[in-house]
Amino acid sequence: MMPKFAYARPKSVEEALKLLSPPGSVVHAGGTDLLGCLRDRVYEAETVVSLTQLSELRGIQKAADGGLHIGALTTITEVAESPLVNGLYPGLAKAASEVASPQLRNQGTIGGNLCQKPRCWYYRGEFHCLRKGGDTCYAVAGENEFHCIFGGDSCFIVHPSDTAPVLVALEATVEIVGQKGMRKVPAGDFLVPPATDPQRETVLEQGELVTGISLPPPATGLHSSYRKVRARQSWDFALAGVALALVMDNDKVTKARVVLGGAAPVPWRSLEVEKVITGRKLDAATIRLASEAVIQGAKQMDQNAYKLPLFRGVIEEELKAITAPTSLSKSS
Ligand SMILES: Cc1cc2nc3c(=O)[nH]c(=O)nc-3n(C[C@H](O)[C@H](O)[C@H](O)COP(=O)(O)OP(=O)(O)OC[C@H]3O[C@@H](n4cnc5c(N)ncnc54)[C@H](O)[C@@H]3O)c2cc1C
Ligand code: SF4
Repeated sequence: MMPKFAYARPKSVEEALKLLSPPGSVVHAGGTDLLGCLRDRVYEAETVVSLTQLSELRGIQKAADGGLHIGALTTITEVAESPLVNGLYPGLAKAASEVASPQLRNQGTIGGNLCQKPRCWYYRGEFHCLRKGGDTCYAVAGENEFHCIFGGDSCFIVHPSDTAPVLVALEATVEIVGQKGMRKVPAGDFLVPPATDPQRETVLEQGELVTGISLPPPATGLHSSYRKVRARQSWDFALAGVALALVMDNDKVTKARVVLGGAAPVPWRSLEVEKVITGRKLDAATIRLASEAVIQGAKQMDQNAYKLPLFRGVIEEELKAITAPTSLSKSS
C-alpha cells in the first residue's frame, strides 16, 4: 500500500524550489520510478513535489552554438522520436528508444531517467543494505548476476539508465537549479560512484532539481551509437550497454569516448578502449585489441562472469559496424 505523503503541484520553478527545500521533499517527474519506490518503501517522502505543471522544463531546442538543449521534463519518447536528436546524436535517440516499454517511455522523463534509483534487488527489497544506511552489501555473498564488473567499491550496483552512458559519451552537461542559483555539471560528474558515497546516486543536494541537459555541437565526422544487450527482448534493463561517440576521419578515429552501461555503478568510461582506437583505423587488428581492452581491470563477482565475453563481443560488433558501409552512412 502507498504510504501517506503531501502532494504539491507548483506553478513555477521558484515555487518548486521552496517546496523542495525541507528534508523529506522529493521531486516527481513522470513518477515511473518514484511511485514504485514509495509504494515499496525503498525510501520515504513527506512531500512529493510534482513538476508536471512546469511546461518550461519540457521540450528540445537547437542551441545557438549548434548543440541541443533538452528540458528535464521531456519524455523519453520525445527524445527517441525527435528529428533534431536523431539528426545530431542518433546514439541518444537509440538509447532512448531502448528504455523500458512504450508506456514507460511516454510517461518517464529524461531528467528522471538520469536520477532514477538503482535496481539492485536487495535495495528494492526489504534489506537494509549499505546503500540504505546499513552496513552490509548483501550482493557480495548473495545473488549478483546483474551486478557490476567495474567500479564496485562498497556497493556493486550497475547504473540503470540507458541514456546516461550516451550523455556521458557525448559530453553533455546537466543543468541544476537550487535556492542558491544555477550550476552546470558535466554528465560524467553528475552521478556519484560508491567510492565517493555509497548512499547517494547524484550530486543533487536537498532542494535542487535538474532543469535540463545541454549537448555540445556535434563535431564533423561524429559517430554516435548505443547498443544494449538485455535478457529479454521486451522491457528489461541492460546486461551490457555500449555508448560510442567517435570522431571519424574516413575510417580513422581521431577522438573517442567509449562509455559502458550495465557495467558499473555509474556510466563507465573505457579509457582502455579509447586509448587503443584513437589515432587508428578500425581494422581487424585494432578491433581485436579493443575487445581485449574493454575488460581490462574488470572484477567479476560469483555470478556475473558472463559479462566479460559479452562486453568483448559488443565492442567488437559495434566497432565493426562503423566501418560497414550501411552503418557509416546511417550515423554520420
Ligand atoms: C518496469 C520498468 C522498466 C524500466 N526499464 C528501464 C530501462 O530499460 N532503461 C532505463 O534507462 N530505465 C528503465 N526504467 C526506469 C525508467 O526509465 C525511469 O523510471 C524513468 O525514466 C524515470 O523518469 P520519471 O520521469 O518517471 O522519473 P520519476 O519516477 O518521477 O523520478 C525518478 C527519480 O528521479 C528524481 N527526479 C526526477 N526528475 C527529476 C528532476 N528533474 N530533478 C531532480 N530529480 C528528479 C525523482 O525524485 C526520483 O528519485 C524502467 C522502469 C520501470 C518501472
Ligand atoms: S549492491 Fe548496493 S544496493 Fe545492492 S545490496 Fe549491495 S549495497 Fe545495497
